[in-house]
Amino acid sequence: MAQQEDVFKKIVSHCKEYGFVFPSSDIYDGLAAVYDYGQNGVELKNNIKQYWWQSMVLLHENIVGIDAAIFMHPTTWKASGHVDAFNDPLIDNRDSKKRYRADVLIEDQMAKYEDKIQKEIEKARKRFGDKFDEAQFRSTNERVLENQQKYDNLHHRYQEAMNAEGGIDLDALKQIILDEEIVCPISGTRNWTDVRQFNLMFKTEMGSTADGASTIYLRPETAQGIFVNYLNVQKTGRMKIPFGIAQIGKAFRNEIVARQFIFRMREFEQMEMQFFIQPGTELDWFAKWKETRMKWHQNLGFGAENYRFHDHDKLAHYANAATDIEFHMPFGFKEVEGIHSRTDFDLSQHAKFSGKKIEYFDPERNESYTPYVIETSIGVDRMFLSIMCHSYEEQVLPDGQTRTVLHLPAALAPVKLAVFPLTKKDGMPEKAQEIINDLRFHFNCKYEEKDQIGKRYRRMDAIGCPYCVTVDPQTLEDNTVTLRDRDTMEQRRVNIADLRGIIEDKVSITSLLKKLL
Ligand code: ATP
Repeated sequence: MAQQEDVFKKIVSHCKEYGFVFPSSDIYDGLAAVYDYGQNGVELKNNIKQYWWQSMVLLHENIVGIDAAIFMHPTTWKASGHVDAFNDPLIDNRDSKKRYRADVLIEDQMAKYEDKIQKEIEKARKRFGDKFDEAQFRSTNERVLENQQKYDNLHHRYQEAMNAEGGIDLDALKQIILDEEIVCPISGTRNWTDVRQFNLMFKTEMGSTADGASTIYLRPETAQGIFVNYLNVQKTGRMKIPFGIAQIGKAFRNEIVARQFIFRMREFEQMEMQFFIQPGTELDWFAKWKETRMKWHQNLGFGAENYRFHDHDKLAHYANAATDIEFHMPFGFKEVEGIHSRTDFDLSQHAKFSGKKIEYFDPERNESYTPYVIETSIGVDRMFLSIMCHSYEEQVLPDGQTRTVLHLPAALAPVKLAVFPLTKKDGMPEKAQEIINDLRFHFNCKYEEKDQIGKRYRRMDAIGCPYCVTVDPQTLEDNTVTLRDRDTMEQRRVNIADLRGIIEDKVSITSLLKKLL
């Protein structure tokens, strides 16, 4: 675990050192849980967004996009339930003065039991080899049974507390924390305050006080911008159910605990799609979107074993089924995307609060209804973090040297091709520039002439550039260059005229999209 935390720290400093992610307002020592994306980070982020946007809007005839404003009429958040119910249960440790989410403390405790069970299983698997029968081991091994029992008891109590009538039972959450003897990781003590509710929305004022300023909120999710535009899009786009509306945009949450770099930020970006369907078909569509979204993630080639679904114990006030797609980060399996069956909750609430009729007339069935909604909601920044974590490697090479390389999927890499003149003379820089001038219209290229070639390769490895080309004296004679592959480090001689054909297909978003069909 300590080793994993070490790796995570290295990834965070790598992100800063190579222009991916900086603390916000860095010269003033940063702002808690707010980050800026640098010259390489913004490219990677844009590529992630394109991969998502195109997979939604280009690959589905019945999904269109919008871009709604961040500020919304304040009644929106009354209707959606966020003013009354967008709360996290928080608890403070009196000794360290650190604040935690009570639900997260308990979920971490459950994960500890799960880990213990998993460790026993792995040990036994090694001992018994091919003959190992996991189901039998789980049902007979004493230590596994004991931990499973602890897990089940805790899970049951947690579910009851989170789903109590009239809202989360805060006293019950505190009692669980005391009974489980959960300690503050900083002070190591159990000196906890009571659990309190905390609303996560940021407030500001619109208009001057003299005009009667009104309190407005920075949106805590992009979804409501889609719901309030449902009628506009359905009518002007003549959309027929089932259809979806996709959106990418900033969201803001005053997170209580924000300590894991860009995993939990106070200003972040979401990519959300609401899919409007006929009531009664929601569980089929929920299953279909689970599958579609998992495929989108796994299509990046990070290995199916690094993903899992995690069904929610506590359903949000609007949902009748919900699951998370979790990715194996250095600090455990963590949510990257949520898929929710939101029923007709949001549209009905907006109909009620606005006084407008929000329904769909189904010409085939000759009836009107309020559509149900399946939502897929993914954080761009968490996706970015998962990609960084999986791609980062400190590699020991056969000659004993080391290199830090980002094995980014080529289609997402910030720079696709680096072009180097071997030396700064004999027309080599001009030739290299010529290659770039030709290819820059097709993908992102970078020219580098400083330092030895080896050092230039290392710099490109560190930003995940999949291809490097070197112009040498032979190039000037026969128009061939060496093309070096980031992952294998193999070099081959190719004709300049063939470069575009070799590289473009591998680095384009289209290459990823084609694998989805
Ligand atoms: P968590 O339980 O981690 O707080 P959530 O379940 O509240 O997340 P959702 O409301 O389902 O998250 O939001 C959808 C997605 O938005 C999440 O899967 C995540 O990728 C992203 N997201 C949510 N909150 C944050 C945040 N504070 N910082 C970065 N990304 C976030």
